[in-house]
Amino acid sequence: MSKERKRSWAEPYKIKMVEPVRMTTHQERQKAIEEAGYNTFLLRSRDVYIDLLTDSGTSAMSDRQWAGLMMGDESYAGSENFYHLEETIQNYYGYKYLVPTHQGRAAEHIISQIMIKKGDIIPGNMYFTTTKVHQELAGGTFMDVIIDEAHDPVNEHPFKANIDLDKLEKLILKYGAHKIPYVSIATTVNMAGGQPISLENLKAVRELTSKHGIKIIHDMTRVAENAYFIKEREEGYAEKSVRDIVKEICSLTDGATMSAKKDALVNIGGFLAVNDEEIFDKARNMVVIYEGLHTYGGMAGRDMEALAIGIKESVEYDHIRARVGQVLYLGNKLTDMGVPIVKPIGSHGVFLDAKKILPHLKQNELPAQSLAAAIYLDSGVRAMERGVVSAGRNPQTGEHNYPKLELVRLTIPRRVYTQAHMDVVAESVEAVFQNNSKVSGLKFVYEPKYLRFFQSRFEPV
Ligand SMILES: *Cc1c(COP(=O)(O)O)cnc(C)c1O
Repeated sequence: MSKERKRSWAEPYKIKMVEPVRMTTHQERQKAIEEAGYNTFLLRSRDVYIDLLTDSGTSAMSDRQWAGLMMGDESYAGSENFYHLEETIQNYYGYKYLVPTHQGRAAEHIISQIMIKKGDIIPGNMYFTTTKVHQELAGGTFMDVIIDEAHDPVNEHPFKANIDLDKLEKLILKYGAHKIPYVSIATTVNMAGGQPISLENLKAVRELTSKHGIKIIHDMTRVAENAYFIKEREEGYAEKSVRDIVKEICSLTDGATMSAKKDALVNIGGFLAVNDEEIFDKARNMVVIYEGLHTYGGMAGRDMEALAIGIKESVEYDHIRARVGQVLYLGNKLTDMGVPIVKPIGSHGVFLDAKKILPHLKQNELPAQSLAAAIYLDSGVRAMERGVVSAGRNPQTGEHNYPKLELVRLTIPRRVYTQAHMDVVAESVEAVFQNNSKVSGLKFVYEPKYLRFFQSRFEPV
């Protein structure tokens, strides 16, 4: 039996510039969370020690990206940085035509308005909030065709973002291909906990949709993380580079929307990329109305340059292995401590099972909201609720929607925190878990009508 010596590995960069974070006392945090109405979205960032609210726009750029900012060509039309970005997208993703946008939802708006007619059906691997809203605003209806395993938090399927081909085929037969402008495929699926789709499944989806003349539009916000999981888990891909896997994923689709604030390592930006010249023509026309001229689309020249460089860095093996590795490190550490989390651990965050961590709270006492507040109070770590508060109310009955999952998301920004920060986070969650009986539930004292999780205020019951 060969005995492998254990080798530690560390972040594949060294730190050139630091941004101090403020450590606070328990008393200061008590005051801050009361003032925030026990809602972590309403905390001021200066009162937060380790900020795991989201991985969106929170990445640390590299020295090369910062140097790229200085190369910004802020010409109104025909900026050099646009051509660099266009060439990078063609090389790394293989899509022919680029329309830059200020962030992901703007690209979703444009493609939805162009491709969806009133009464259309858009099947997809679980919804994402902004994607679905834009499909609905264009007159379409989103229909979830993800495999059933995706809805089960303890099912360890390695590719929980896979499409259920039977469900998709039934929809095509029921509504007819003419009612389905495209299938919406996300790599990875955020709402399922950062879970990947396999290339085997995507190829089968391509075959089925081609047979019926249906396009595939790719939400490629976390495509590098998805490709990393394929390399690690899918047979036949261990020797392929993440860069090649990313390009193969894109080659099976007809166009893409991208929120560059996630995998592409910039703080703002996005794009729409397509292969069809006619769609490109319409998109280029529309972007002028909503975003800006087609060679900047709502982005500064310098931001397009940083994005072009970020795309190249995002598919480097050392980077993506460390990025996903850090999330797995935190998830495994919490598992070893006995803390209940969603499995398998996703690519961009760890999801805590608040129902199991605070079993004494009823769901109307808002366990996930209470847990997020308790973790902040313990250590200054900021997380986000994904439970009954996020699920909102039933518009007919006015009652709370009670989702199966009551989760707290610890989302890890890219290249921002070290393994030592992850240790602090895990120890804090463990401490709250061990003293769980001390955590009281919360009740609403203010509730806005839309997306209430952002602005609601609470009080202990
Ligand atoms: C963030 C995100 C979007 C929306 O992008 P924005 O840049 O926030 O507008 C779309 N899809 C997925 C999967 C996302 O995570």
